[in-house]
Amino acid sequence: MAAGATLLVAAVVATGTLLAAGVWGFGAAPGPGAAPVSNTRPTASSTPSVSVPAIPSPEFTPVPTPSATEPPPAPAPPAFDRAALSIDDPTSPWFVVNKLRPIPDGANYSPPDLVDLPAGMPNPNGYQMRADATAALDAMFQAGLAETGVQMVAQSGYRDYSVQVRAYDYYVNALGADGADLTSARPGYSEHQTGMAMDILDTVSGCSTDGRCFADTTAGQWLAGNAYSFGWVLRYPDGKTDVTGYEFEPWHYRWVGVPLATEMHATGIATLEEFFGLPAAPTY
Ligand SMILES: [Zn+2]
Repeated sequence: MAAGATLLVAAVVATGTLLAAGVWGFGAAPGPGAAPVSNTRPTASSTPSVSVPAIPSPEFTPVPTPSATEPPPAPAPPAFDRAALSIDDPTSPWFVVNKLRPIPDGANYSPPDLVDLPAGMPNPNGYQMRADATAALDAMFQAGLAETGVQMVAQSGYRDYSVQVRAYDYYVNALGADGADLTSARPGYSEHQTGMAMDILDTVSGCSTDGRCFADTTAGQWLAGNAYSFGWVLRYPDGKTDVTGYEFEPWHYRWVGVPLATEMHATGIATLEEFFGLPAAPTY
């Protein structure tokens, strides 16, 4: 502080001296008839030539920027291997079933590890699913409830071949064959028969597995944004009927595992057909 004070005093003295010199610079007091000089007289603000040395202060100490202390960027993750699992084996999480890709020997296929859904999960029709999909569904329902306060419902899970025969016939009778094919799979072509698909509704909206109602609900919106992190994909997205063969089904989710669901989310590729480079399957 003593050094700073000394500098300040020196600066004030120097400034005063120069100001005085400026005044004196006009020479003798103006005589009669002399032009007024007041307009040209320098003012204190017009003497910037006086330079006062900066006083060192902690405020001016250079501070390292955060970027200087950040670790180097992590190496890029390895490219996603789109051939890591089978898309042809109906037991594979990546199995792709659509109107051009029936379940092999579908009339006789049933998944290997069906389990009951957890006792606390709303499951009004008593459906089962495969074990890994069931665990992922439970985790997703619990997270959704915690984050939104809305309880989701397992509306329809594994359906065996004979159940799909009845379901499809029901829709044919109600809608005709063309209408039925837009909303219900023919027997042997249903993702529900894999034990890895679930129709999800909630306990509060009153929506059903029909139309677009569920898409605008709290649960439907939460699922659309978060299901991927639990390994689920919205299998029949809006605007993809020409690829999937089905109208928008905001309730129908398919478990494919976290790695694939996350990769599809990250790349913005909405359907399994497009992701794996498979032909579009609008019709049988
Ligand atoms: Zn479904």
